[in-house]
Amino acid sequence: MLQKLKNLSHLLPMSVTFKHLFKPPITLQYPEQRQQLKQRYRCLQRLDVKKCISCGNCARACPNGAIKMKVVGIEEKKVKDKVVKKEKKHPEIYLGRCMFCGLCVDACPVKALTWRNDVLELAEYTREELFYPWWKLAGYEVEPAKEGGSGQ
Ligand code: SF4
Ligand code: SF4
Repeated sequence: MLQKLKNLSHLLPMSVTFKHLFKPPITLQYPEQRQQLKQRYRCLQRLDVKKCISCGNCARACPNGAIKMKVVGIEEKKVKDKVVKKEKKHPEIYLGRCMFCGLCVDACPVKALTWRNDVLELAEYTREELFYPWWKLAGYEVEPAKEGGSGQ
């Protein structure tokens, strides 16, 4: 009797398999089919250059030193009847060091740095390709010309 029960013991795990035979699959045929990524998914930062005020908070907040500020031009600002020249800087990110903690995004006071949720593949063949200059973060194909002189 005991031996008979032992022989039937494989039926229980098989029943789990059979239960799933008649359910729709939960897997996708990637890469042809792609999952709709969640709103809060963190994959790559997006920079809104119109909002960025060059404060550098994002670079200071990064615990891994993955962000460097790049001077992209000189802008003139009026401060108490005087016109002062100020360096315009934008963040650049080395994704090889990024751990996607989100501290840079949280530290941005004007929400110029946000998360994208539309990129799944970030792997590259070389380390250099993991470097995202400010213009790439901002969605430009090539680096735009500098405004107001070199300022480098
Ligand atoms: S997500 Fe974190 S590790 Fe990545 S750049 Fe921002 S602060 Fe640095
Ligand atoms: S992205 Fe935000 S935190 Fe970073 S320099 Fe620009 S305004 Fe400051």
